[in-house]
Amino acid sequence: MAFHGAGRQTVCGDLFPGSELGHKYFCVNSSCGAPSTGLSATSCLTGPTAPAGTPRHPTALGGSTGGGAAVPQPYSNPASEVPSPAEMEPDRPIGYGAFGVVWSVTDPRDGRKVALKKMPNVFQNLVSCKRVFRELRMLCFFKHDNVLSALDILQPPQIDCFEEIYVITELMQSDLHKVIVSPQPLTTDHIKVFLYQILRGLKYLHSAGILHRDIKPGNLLVNSNCLLKICDFGLARVEEPDPSRHMTQEVVTQYYRAPEVLMGCRHYGSAIDVWSVGCIFAELLGRRILFQAQSPIQQLDLITDLLGTPPLSALASACEGARAHILRGPHKPPSLSVLYMLSDGATHEAVHLLCRMLVFDPAKRISGSDALSHPYLDEGRLRYHTCMCQCCYSVPSGRVYTRDFEPVAERPFSHSYENSLLSVWQGKELIHRFITEHQQGKRVPLCINPQSAAFKTFIRSTAWHSSKVSRKEER
Ligand SMILES: [Zn+2]
Repeated sequence: MAFHGAGRQTVCGDLFPGSELGHKYFCVNSSCGAPSTGLSATSCLTGPTAPAGTPRHPTALGGSTGGGAAVPQPYSNPASEVPSPAEMEPDRPIGYGAFGVVWSVTDPRDGRKVALKKMPNVFQNLVSCKRVFRELRMLCFFKHDNVLSALDILQPPQIDCFEEIYVITELMQSDLHKVIVSPQPLTTDHIKVFLYQILRGLKYLHSAGILHRDIKPGNLLVNSNCLLKICDFGLARVEEPDPSRHMTQEVVTQYYRAPEVLMGCRHYGSAIDVWSVGCIFAELLGRRILFQAQSPIQQLDLITDLLGTPPLSALASACEGARAHILRGPHKPPSLSVLYMLSDGATHEAVHLLCRMLVFDPAKRISGSDALSHPYLDEGRLRYHTCMCQCCYSVPSGRVYTRDFEPVAERPFSHSYENSLLSVWQGKELIHRFITEHQQGKRVPLCINPQSAAFKTFIRSTAWHSSKVSRKEER
């Protein structure tokens, strides 16, 4: 994820000068809508949250390691009515995912700041067509507070001119990578509530049969209230039940890559995401990357330095070269006790959970769902549902809690349509129809104003990642 500095923001601010609808990045098809007021809180700031220090039920919070410090301290502005500095900034690029460019823009229908993601090169070939359609369908499928979903899709042009897809999502102010490398304090309370939300979102994804395959701090968006959402489904795919089917190795940023993927295992499952979360958990505790290697082989070496030489049973699915590399090396004993030195927050409970996630053999690694039952996350759950969630609410006599703290997906994500997709043109028609049907009966559709200077800047950003697409393209 690249992040543009203040200089770029200023330039883009000039490109989005007025509050008049026609000057904005978006243009609305009908004559609807009053001119934007420019500012309003994003919905993630208007939920049933309470500013730090607000007394709240239940009192069990007092047992926290934070000394009863209530909700984790927000990173910027805790008050939902007052726009934070991020919300007052002009439209601007905010980052790049595996396959798309993301901008912060203003929705002219309500003046709300939202994130606009461009999915380019959609119709380059059938593989990219399938991948983008999969991501688009996933974004429209998700209904979970800890998973980023599509708020809207821009109206596509006539099918002959249809080349790119633009998706609107909620705008989050930061991501966990930026938080970890920043000087902002990161208490045990923060870590618990972040880890709880990561696993809560992951349980939902896995229950839908979806592997994220690129869980890393930069793909975990956070806002000033510490609400966290998993994003970037450019590499996500449906779990493959047939172990004889080969799956690509070109997944997961190396530092967070599970040993089975590093060892060339042809088939893997949701355990690869849990490994990544374990690495992130350790990174939150120690504020540095746990396994920071220069190459995949060194990555594997760092892992075995910590976990010890794996038993032969854990190497069954490894490719010949990886197995030979491990067996050729010296026998290493585990050195898990170094995890206690990550920070003061690395308590016995924390290290216990960490060791259940960082298990070499994926079959013995804890699942995301089971990890949520670990006592280390009890406080994170309580904090989340006491003042951050959308599923519980307060009444004068106290807090009414939901029956299901960590809900699963209503149904598995279906990808059967992919088998019938045989040509790029057919895919184009299908995606065009999908977007049109998705919009029906909803809000006034938005579309791009191709004459705006901002749009011209925006389309040029395609060049940045075009090489990435071919490198990481996969099935
Ligand atoms: Zn709740």
